[in-house]
Amino acid sequence: MRIIRFSVGDVLKMKKQHPCGADTMKVLRVGSDIRVVCTGCGRDVTVAREKLEKNIKSVIPGDVQNPQNT
Ligand SMILES: [Zn+2]
Repeated sequence: MRIIRFSVGDVLKMKKQHPCGADTMKVLRVGSDIRVVCTGCGRDVTVAREKLEKNIKSVIPGDVQNPQNT
């Protein structure tokens, strides 16, 4: 099993896209549960880490991303 590392501010590219059409989520909080916000519609979601990791395609470091949400 692959371990995916990410931290607050990183953007996660997801395998499954959000209903709004965006497939990237920005990390707001990391713990046993991960809080992410959709970069498309701004909706934030809390997901169990294990569940989220299965859905990550790649991690885009936050520093190189333009801020897309407020
Ligand atoms: Zn969305």
